[in-house]
Amino acid sequence: MKMSKLFVQTLREFPSDAEVISHKMLVRAGFIRKLTSGVYNYLPLMWRVLKKIENIVREEMDSAGAQELLMPFVQPKELWEESGRWGAYGGELMRLKDRHGREMCLGPTHEEIITAIARDGLKSYKQLPVNLYQIQSKFRDERRPRFGLLRGREFIMKDAYSFDTSQEGLEKEYQNMWNAYSRIFKRCGLDTKAVQSDSGAIGGSVSHEFMVITDTDAGENDVFYCECDYAANSNHAVSKLPEAKIVGDFAKAEIVETPNTHSIEELCEFLNIPATLIVKTLVYIIDKKPVLALIRGDKQIEETKLLNAVGGVDIRIAVAAEIEELLNVEKGFIGPKEGLTIVADETVRDLKNFVIGINQVDKHGVGYNWGSEVKLPETVADIRLVEAGELCPECGKPLKVTRGIEVGNIFQLGTKYSKPMNAVYLDQNGKAQPYVMGCYGIGISRTAAAAVEAHYDEKGIKWPLAIAPYQAIVIPVSTKDEQQMKVAEDIYKTLLKHGVEAVIDDRDERPGVKFKDADLIGFPYRITVGKSIADGLVEFKVRETDEMSNIKPEDAAEIVITAVSNLK
Ligand code: ATP
Ligand code: MG
Repeated sequence: MKMSKLFVQTLREFPSDAEVISHKMLVRAGFIRKLTSGVYNYLPLMWRVLKKIENIVREEMDSAGAQELLMPFVQPKELWEESGRWGAYGGELMRLKDRHGREMCLGPTHEEIITAIARDGLKSYKQLPVNLYQIQSKFRDERRPRFGLLRGREFIMKDAYSFDTSQEGLEKEYQNMWNAYSRIFKRCGLDTKAVQSDSGAIGGSVSHEFMVITDTDAGENDVFYCECDYAANSNHAVSKLPEAKIVGDFAKAEIVETPNTHSIEELCEFLNIPATLIVKTLVYIIDKKPVLALIRGDKQIEETKLLNAVGGVDIRIAVAAEIEELLNVEKGFIGPKEGLTIVADETVRDLKNFVIGINQVDKHGVGYNWGSEVKLPETVADIRLVEAGELCPECGKPLKVTRGIEVGNIFQLGTKYSKPMNAVYLDQNGKAQPYVMGCYGIGISRTAAAAVEAHYDEKGIKWPLAIAPYQAIVIPVSTKDEQQMKVAEDIYKTLLKHGVEAVIDDRDERPGVKFKDADLIGFPYRITVGKSIADGLVEFKVRETDEMSNIKPEDAAEIVITAVSNLK
């Protein structure tokens, strides 16, 4: 490819609406252009990267025994009603109507469609197990599309679904996919960590996320991990229950004046007590209904855990007006109230002689106990956010925290879809049984962006060789210098002949401009033909390390050709 013909427009500045590196770099280097919120054009350079990731995914999925198909992007409401998700899936489901008024949605994921396909075609145990996958655009009307390709509304995903006759079969396939994922991300040049996670809207019991660990804002997930191999997303992480038998030294149970104590800190200071002696009450709105959550004063609520504890779909914290209307009180003085759904975290169960809000402004109950002044809620669950330093549930050492970008996800679904959709096969005894299913996703476009987050410097992207849009660029410093042009073209042709995807920068531009573009776009190898060609040497640069050396043209070509042939 000639640089003069390459469809790419690099920008001088980073786009002003971009917050994270990959978004900034991919726009500036001419890989993507925003069409509308959360929806991007993948320009030719980007499309080459995406196709490479897709091919790696395809090769590994095929060699793991999965079969590719392609399902429609538009899905009918009826199947979603069968699974029970038409009502349950939140605002992310983009619903639409056709000209006849029939309701449809844009596929955010494809469990319903694949289950219907299996139900039609997999009728006997003899046909199982099967794993089917596709690579396709998905649409999710994300509440906060942001970070460019990392959280788009339209994005490309690989989604696979397995059908088995038993839990053991599913577990075997789960491990098979785990291994395939490890190979896929490694080949894409990404270090990933598999962490336990919550199964969210997709459902099921066991699930893991493959995270690219990063210390930047692009990591939207907090990952808690331990030396012992335990690793979990914050929505799922647990810790050893901190010492919970805490007893206050109030002489008796009574209501005391606590003026202006709107925060835990203010209340602690006023009563001269530690936060661990306070039962804190928060008001949430879950699926439009109020839910009170009780937790020890020094801990925070993990919303996904709370959501799971009540079996809801949509959660948000209540606003002041809602609290006022519900409890006739303001923040700081809220307490449990009969008749409302209440969930208590495990940390409050063993407290004695504690302090608690009683829904009266400027007052608190002190010296209270469960079962006498207040009732212990029926639902006591782990709804707290783990904090770094708390102890690992498996080995007891302190947990550490880092941030991660979720690039892939594997779930054991069990019969969550096959049962309600009556998707069954006949077993050896001729008896109808629901399939035992698993599902396995990889964000193709998110993986590309995550690769940029993991490989860049202030000058631009450093694509891993396996997914780079082009593997090498040959730059003649002066296109007017016949010898330079001749050597550059020779190297370029040699590279092409050996299957290297190369670009020659034939533009009549200043060398500085050419170097800047090469660094920004992120060609893994750069071969510059300049004045030193008089001594028979070219400048060879490795983008990942920025190492430069002056070597013979044929040696430069040889290094690139060898590296590229080692990819396969
Ligand atoms: P998240 O928690 O980040 O919203 P998810 O858990 O809902 O993602 P899955 O349903 O597991 O996502 O989808 C499989 C994969 O698709 C994810 O691991 C991720 O790589 C990718 N993905 C999900 N949502 C998006 C999005 N909005 N933009 C880009 N990729 C996405
Ligand atoms: Mg996920």
